[in-house]
Amino acid sequence: MSDTLAEHVETEQAGPEQPDAGQAVAEGAPSGPSLSPSRAADFMACPLLYRFRVIDRLPEPPSPAAARGTLVHAVLERLFDEPAPARTPAAARTLLAPQWDRLVEAAPELADMFDDDAQRHAWIDEAALMLDRYFTLEDPTRIEPSYREMSVTTLLESGLTLRGYIDRLDVARTGELRIVDYKTGAAPREEYEARALFQMKFYAVVLWRARGTIPRVLQLIYLGNGEIMRYAPDEADLLATERKINALWQAIDRASSSGDWRPRQSRLCEWCAFQALCPVFGGTPPPLPDPAHADQPLPDLPAGDLALPSAGPDPRVSPPTATGSGDS
Ligand code: SF4
Repeated sequence: MSDTLAEHVETEQAGPEQPDAGQAVAEGAPSGPSLSPSRAADFMACPLLYRFRVIDRLPEPPSPAAARGTLVHAVLERLFDEPAPARTPAAARTLLAPQWDRLVEAAPELADMFDDDAQRHAWIDEAALMLDRYFTLEDPTRIEPSYREMSVTTLLESGLTLRGYIDRLDVARTGELRIVDYKTGAAPREEYEARALFQMKFYAVVLWRARGTIPRVLQLIYLGNGEIMRYAPDEADLLATERKINALWQAIDRASSSGDWRPRQSRLCEWCAFQALCPVFGGTPPPLPDPAHADQPLPDLPAGDLALPSAGPDPRVSPPTATGSGDS
């Protein structure tokens, strides 16, 4: 996507929509089968990982990388509560401590990630550097997001509900949509960009089906190395993505019926919390739980990339990073 188009969307911001302007994007818990981009990425990466997370619902210990992503997302969300001129790097840094306190209040186990204060301070400093980097990529004083941490769902004709959280949705006065996702990892190499874009196209399908508008721009902001990836989808793109999502769901459904959740070894195993239960590492998965409890959707966390990275063995891919989420 060209910078010109990005500029166009940015300078034509209409500001936050009125509450009823988002009615086409239904919210609430779906009653039938549902899929989020994070869980779709899990299944594509490793069906057994998907099983452990969605069917068994096994707990995972918090990771500093994922928690840092959640913190950075929280700060960037709150930053836009400030009046435009006050959205400065200093203001973002000021938000770090209260947002960290809020996260720890909600999940006290986060405080146990660090051996001592020095480790925690170093971790916070890295988050602060990512925020500083954000200001080299965007000027938040010129942006009025229409939605932040937006919960979206839509029901496909196939009967599958798609759901997730969009970090930021910008709506221009002309009605053009820009979906923005913050990543605290580094941008993937060119050969892995398609995987990185899958999550964004997933969201684009949701908005297209819910609002009837194809988003003009999908924008990934990589705070790990200070790069922006932009993509302008078309209808053929989104139809292909919808077909892929439906095919993926059929594969999940087959695995669910057969109980055949195969492990898929990759570099991602390095960050998998379930190695001890995985046959690849000599473990034995627990018995499958009662099916009556297995088809409930797993809530996605609003901060996008908490799931294992869905990219391949790219040395620039960071360990499990937050926001990501969407739903990550
Ligand atoms: S260790 Fe690797 S193969 Fe095993 S469940 Fe985790 S991601 Fe899958």
